[in-house]
Amino acid sequence: MVFRGGTVFDAVGRTTDTADVAVEDGVIVAVGSDLDGDVEVDCTGCGVLPGLFDCHVHLTMSDTDVFRVAQEPFSLQFYEGAVNMAATLAAGITTVRDAGGADLGMRVAQERGLIPGPRMQVSLNMLSQTGGHGDPWWPSTCVMDLLPPHPGRPPVVVDGPEEIRRKVREFVRAGADVIKVATSGGLVSSGAGPEIPHFRDDEIAMLVTEATAARRFVMAHAHGEGAKAAVRNGVRSIEHGNQLDDETLEEMARRRVWLVPTLASGLGLRQSVENGVTYPEHIMEKIEQAEANRSVRRAVEAGVPIAMGTDAPLYPHGQNLVELALLVEEGMTPADALHAATLSAAELMGLHETLGSIEPGKRADLVIVDGDPLRVEGLGERVRAVYQDGRAVGVRPDPSGPAQSATSAASFSNDASVSR
Ligand SMILES: [Zn+2]
Repeated sequence: MVFRGGTVFDAVGRTTDTADVAVEDGVIVAVGSDLDGDVEVDCTGCGVLPGLFDCHVHLTMSDTDVFRVAQEPFSLQFYEGAVNMAATLAAGITTVRDAGGADLGMRVAQERGLIPGPRMQVSLNMLSQTGGHGDPWWPSTCVMDLLPPHPGRPPVVVDGPEEIRRKVREFVRAGADVIKVATSGGLVSSGAGPEIPHFRDDEIAMLVTEATAARRFVMAHAHGEGAKAAVRNGVRSIEHGNQLDDETLEEMARRRVWLVPTLASGLGLRQSVENGVTYPEHIMEKIEQAEANRSVRRAVEAGVPIAMGTDAPLYPHGQNLVELALLVEEGMTPADALHAATLSAAELMGLHETLGSIEPGKRADLVIVDGDPLRVEGLGERVRAVYQDGRAVGVRPDPSGPAQSATSAASFSNDASVSR
């Protein structure tokens, strides 16, 4: 098949050019002019992007209201997760890294085609020290967990290098593709704020050693001092990453440690407060403080690699592309923002040999958008069709009709036979 005459984003050169893209057996075989194919997709007036990545989502979570979650049946999260996966895919996100919640079964269900969704790397959950960001203990001594443990998602609280060695192995055994750890406090939890570092060097070093031995990367929820310690001990990416000092940013650039800024989560929290959601006062203070201490602009200037992540559902699943415009507001060019959501993200996840750019030999994950793909503002509303391995997994029913939100899975067909 051939995608004819679109404005193709070259993630390697970070440029666009009018070209045809030829696909055979789910693989891109050529990019150029006057290419042939049995099926033709007219992309005139459209942008053609590599399948996009979101490197920080929580697919089993649909909001952050622990009081609601506490009253829902345990397994509801997986059915909600299936809906969230479909919405994410319809948004043009063909690959995600789940930062806590999704388990191996969800990943396998997607791989077997039981449910539509992005390709997944799962972390299962986030390792935390006692009193850390993932410790569900509240000052009342009540335990309310947004991600309650189950056999496929082991408990997360762990202290000391030897316990951590065992915990990493337990997570790998349960199917973790990536190990996630919180090396600082955070915003929406009962515990310490972002300025407090969690885990000591011997613990983080052990975690990275064990993960590396199992051929897993480490992603660290981290701000400030906690981020500095994570970088010093060899993690692959810093998630959120507020309050990063110059020394940390220089070291991240030198070691090629990614920053996944999750700007959408800050916007989502602000919007939910405006819409009447109330958080305890100390959490409100932390949210305001975090907004005042974003590091992404300075990270870009320092040459730190950036990968796109939203922290959905802190911003709703299916509206992931809002992050692109937020990255541009923080000083990235539109092409660099798209690179962060494609080839840079693929490299972060170790998938750049097969995904992340439109080049011969790569898998044909493609997103067709109305108009100029470098116009990232409102891009989420202009998603026309989504392909994984050359199969149409989401096609707007009437491409010539009024633009429909790409955020609703229902507005897309998930019928693999759909082609236009
Ligand atoms: Zn998160």
